[in-house]
Amino acid sequence: MDKEFKLNDRVIMKKQHACGSNEWMITRMGVDIKIKCVNCGREIMMDRLEFKKKLKGVNHEKVQED
Ligand SMILES: [Zn+2]
Repeated sequence: MDKEFKLNDRVIMKKQHACGSNEWMITRMGVDIKIKCVNCGREIMMDRLEFKKKLKGVNHEKVQED
């Protein structure tokens, strides 16, 4: 799976969220990266190094926007 990421990308994290989903959307990219759980809407922030460590891959195929 691709590991190049940019704002608004859907990403899959290694560890799943408490709600059961492991799919997130990047909502902010700066020194820290903010991701939002696509299932429950919870947002978390982490630094880039931590993000890359926890990132499983970027989902470029399943883009749903309506
Ligand atoms: Zn969640």
